[in-house]
Amino acid sequence: MVDVFFKRINYQQLLKEPQVILDLLEKANFKENIKKDDFLGIKVHFGERGNKSFVNPNFLLPLVRYLKNYKTKPFLFDTNTLYYGDRMNAIDHISLAKGHGFDRLGIPIIIGDGLRGNDYVEVEINKKHFNKCYLSLIWKDIDFILCLSHFKGHMLTGFGGAIKNLGMGIASRRGKLAQHCEIYPYIDKSKCKGCGICFNNCPSQCIEKDDDKFRIVSKLCIGCGQCMSLCPFRAIIINWSDSYTLIQERVVEYAFASLKGKRSIHINFCVFITKECDCMNKEEKGYCQDLGLLLSYDPVALDKASLDLLIDREKRDIFKEIHPETPYSEQFTYAEEIGLGTTDYRLIEV
Ligand code: SF4
Ligand code: SF4
Repeated sequence: MVDVFFKRINYQQLLKEPQVILDLLEKANFKENIKKDDFLGIKVHFGERGNKSFVNPNFLLPLVRYLKNYKTKPFLFDTNTLYYGDRMNAIDHISLAKGHGFDRLGIPIIIGDGLRGNDYVEVEINKKHFNKCYLSLIWKDIDFILCLSHFKGHMLTGFGGAIKNLGMGIASRRGKLAQHCEIYPYIDKSKCKGCGICFNNCPSQCIEKDDDKFRIVSKLCIGCGQCMSLCPFRAIIINWSDSYTLIQERVVEYAFASLKGKRSIHINFCVFITKECDCMNKEEKGYCQDLGLLLSYDPVALDKASLDLLIDREKRDIFKEIHPETPYSEQFTYAEEIGLGTTDYRLIEV
């Protein structure tokens, strides 16, 4: 059985008293687990442009001071997205993070998979879906992962918490593509202008001319996603309609890879709980009342405890209502099967 620490607090209170995060860390003996000069990667989601529900950087001011006091080297990191938006390359992504106030924390903001999302490291896991995972390159040099997740609904995984943040959020573009689909990107001919940029840059030379446009020969495609990041006309598309069950398990395998050989701790911000994730480029309303903060060394126990608390409080499973097609509980079954963590937890209210 593992401990999950819980602080009942709402969004506005947390803005006024962000030091409560330190109370949770103290209860969990966090300082015994960090070392001077650790490269301490704070995994966050900076929020898509127009979104407001991401973890507010003001929540993190005392936390960053605390990490500096203990002589670690904290930095914020995320990875580039698969889809088109303002987080698809590192330049736009960092600019957006600053626009959302993360620069006021005074620590580096790093996009882990490079300028265009193509920098990765292979991590061997030898599981059912993947023998190796393609994580963002920076991951290999991180000593300690502090995973901060906004707890909310998600269209592919039912809910988004620590498992999702670790699984999808630390993967490179190639890794994200591997989780999302067995079907590789295709070119939408109505948008393709025939410029040939994708053709000239495809590392596996699997893009060929098709009249005055281009097409991808999917059996040769390695799914690196490079063409998507380069197409100036957003003509290269992914088929998102892959099996929902497979996605749950693939995300779990990537979460497993992201913690391989790492020290880590995980916090779920169960405030401003929205129907969809912070990738939405629009302002969402809170779907239900805030719960508070939960912290654990085990991401599986943490997500399970967050869900259990919410279901217990609401007397219904809101994420099942919002995303009935998504069998999210398979994340827990599979996470326990492969040793990512346990659902056997003890809740300690702080
Ligand atoms: S980069 Fe885009 S517009 Fe240019 S050929 Fe490829 S798909 Fe068409
Ligand atoms: S995903 Fe990579 S390998 Fe596949 S077509 Fe695009 S650039 Fe080529």
